[in-house]
Amino acid sequence: MAEEQFGLPYWLDLERPTFSRLETDKTVEAVVIGGGICGLKIARSLSRYGIKSIILEGGRIGDGASSRNQGSINHGGALGYADCVRHFSRSTAQSIWQLGLENHRLLRAEMSEFEFDCDYQIEGFTYLARRDLPGWETQLANYAEDYRLLKEDGFDVAFLDEQDATQHGGSPLYAGGLSYLNDAQFHSGKYVLGLGVSRLPNVTIFEDSRVQENSIYKSE
Ligand SMILES: Cc1cc2nc3c(=O)[nH]c(=O)nc-3n(C[C@H](O)[C@H](O)[C@H](O)COP(=O)(O)OP(=O)(O)OC[C@H]3O[C@@H](n4cnc5c(N)ncnc54)[C@H](O)[C@@H]3O)c2cc1C
Repeated sequence: MAEEQFGLPYWLDLERPTFSRLETDKTVEAVVIGGGICGLKIARSLSRYGIKSIILEGGRIGDGASSRNQGSINHGGALGYADCVRHFSRSTAQSIWQLGLENHRLLRAEMSEFEFDCDYQIEGFTYLARRDLPGWETQLANYAEDYRLLKEDGFDVAFLDEQDATQHGGSPLYAGGLSYLNDAQFHSGKYVLGLGVSRLPNVTIFEDSRVQENSIYKSE
């Protein structure tokens, strides 16, 4: 699985619980395939409604993208704010960005409910325009426009001028940028393990239990 193919992710280089392999037939109400953030959260939601589930993870919990990411919790979309307004509408853009903030709130509630520590910190997230890359002037103008609209719509953002950007990025290459002041970072390994090992009533986790065509559980 992922660990054999790509090696141990930096974020999982810590003491990890192990879960046994599924060795026998089982009858359950729900089967969740994959023990990354999505699988663990789905199992958790099922559990909340009293539905018993098992998680079948082909490798080990968190082996996939869930512990190979940069651990940024952002509330912006892939599109810039002004682009989103142009493509959809001002109220749609506002709702999407608000939804991102709601995700932040839910994440904090979850961490407090499950009482696990994943080095969560609100340090903001900054996009910087580099003057050695083509189109940086347009990029910077977009950040300025995003900043203006986001401020008008009540979001907590800051525009970085050349001096701020140089200081922030640690290089005179940076011409300016946009900071989302409420964005956060966490240790993605601790987060995904926290989800997997914290109290999950009605959920049983199996590792080394890859689901394959014609064979429900079979390790290679
Ligand atoms: C380089 C990188 C950086 C990223 N940075 C960020 C970021 O900063 N912020 C952010 O919000 N998102 C980021 N993401 C995206 C985020 O990591 C993913 O959206 C998220 O982890 C997906 O979770 P998942 O549970 O769907 O997938 P995964 O974590 O990949 O989990 C899938 C699991 O399923 C298992 N599996 C697969 N097939 C089978 C099978 N047949 N049987 C049993 N098990 C199986 C795998 O072993 C794996 O453990 C980043 C992603 C990458 C790759």
